[in-house]
Amino acid sequence: MSGFRALPAVDQLLAALPALVEDHGRQAVTQAARARLDAARTAIREGADGATEAARLPHLLAADLAGQAATRLRPILNLTGTVLHTNLGRAILADEAIAAASAAMAAPLALEYDLTTGARGQRDDHLRGLLCELTGAEDATIVNNNAAAVLIALNTFGLGRDSLVSRGELIEIGGAFRMPDIMARAGTHLVEVGTTNRTHPRDYVEAITDRTGLILKVHTSNYRIDGFTAEVAAPDLAALARDAGVIMMNDLGAGSLVDLSRWGLRREPTVAEAVAEGADLITFSGDKLLGGPQAGFILGRRDLIAQINRNPMKRALRLDKIRIAALEATLRLYRDPDRLDRRLPVLRMLSRPQADIAAQAARLAPQVAALLPDHAVTVTDCASQIGSGSLPTDTIPSAGLRITGAGGDAPDRLAARLRALPRPVLGHIHAGALILDLRCLGADGDLLDALAP
Ligand SMILES: *Cc1c(COP(=O)(O)O)cnc(C)c1O
Repeated sequence: MSGFRALPAVDQLLAALPALVEDHGRQAVTQAARARLDAARTAIREGADGATEAARLPHLLAADLAGQAATRLRPILNLTGTVLHTNLGRAILADEAIAAASAAMAAPLALEYDLTTGARGQRDDHLRGLLCELTGAEDATIVNNNAAAVLIALNTFGLGRDSLVSRGELIEIGGAFRMPDIMARAGTHLVEVGTTNRTHPRDYVEAITDRTGLILKVHTSNYRIDGFTAEVAAPDLAALARDAGVIMMNDLGAGSLVDLSRWGLRREPTVAEAVAEGADLITFSGDKLLGGPQAGFILGRRDLIAQINRNPMKRALRLDKIRIAALEATLRLYRDPDRLDRRLPVLRMLSRPQADIAAQAARLAPQVAALLPDHAVTVTDCASQIGSGSLPTDTIPSAGLRITGAGGDAPDRLAARLRALPRPVLGHIHAGALILDLRCLGADGDLLDALAP
């Protein structure tokens, strides 16, 4: 039984493992070695054999360092059936946007610099023209995400004043975005009007006082109220706000720049239509239906946008050059709607016909079965979701692979195995089977390569 003396010193250990030092660097190996030696000393104190502990060190260190070197941000295959999956980073960007972002990372660019005059420029200028052209808005400003857009608008016009919202629109959107909480942090006093299912024009009118800063309309992105309901439509609310001399803001959430019914999806009002309805301000996301990087847009009256830009919060919520470049390239694609479904991955995935997906599933089923012994693989119909609270109660007919194995916990075990692959494959479990919805799969080879031993 050997004790602590069987353990090498850190330097000795490093000298014996030159390949690890070469791969990971001296500092990382030293840190990992100290941690493992500490653990070995603890084990010996509790009765473990020193020589045995020492012999395990090289192998344990190699595993520790390999684990640390593997990034957790590696690409995965999203076969969950949710196209805009917030936990998986939402929109996949267009090639044009990726190229623009890469170029912006690699060299200086005229981000806040006017190349014609040599004078200082504004970073939002690169996007403002396109946004106004595509939506008909008078002016625009851009911030970190739509939550930030709502926050800064409420803070600019509602600070120390009342903000009116229908009780039917006091939403929570995943985790920390709850309208009442955002309002409190923006320093505005929430005044709830109407009831959960019915809100009338007179409810707003009666709530307006000389303390009212703005009236907020919120797209109920992730739920729908059916039955005996009434809401005040945006044009009526805009007119009512104008008469009372207060600002009307419409938070669209996903906000699409094009009519999606053209590609067989349910018709949602476009941003341009919302602008035409007369709201003073409109907010929406860059990485939901728009299909770009994370960003929040505020469109509206020039005088109001100027006030938002003067709010010191703007500096804290502004976009970096990488996303501005990617957004500019993404917005540019909308100038040619005829080719949009080929160039914008989000739209390509959303508009993919079920027959096309089913054909891919039929091709892949026998090949996937060959890669997953002890499992049965069949083609199945399924239903995709847009995700990110866009058109929540709508699903899109899709197709995929239904995989079953022996034993009650088989789908859980298989799901865990596929999550542990070098390129993780994510599906969803339904009725005792793992379903891989193929709507978001590109080439057949992407799945076969991911599953290959
Ligand atoms: C998604 C959403 C937000 C938050 O947008 P992010 O871009 O995720 O910050 C705000 N309001 C509505 C109505 C939404 O649907």
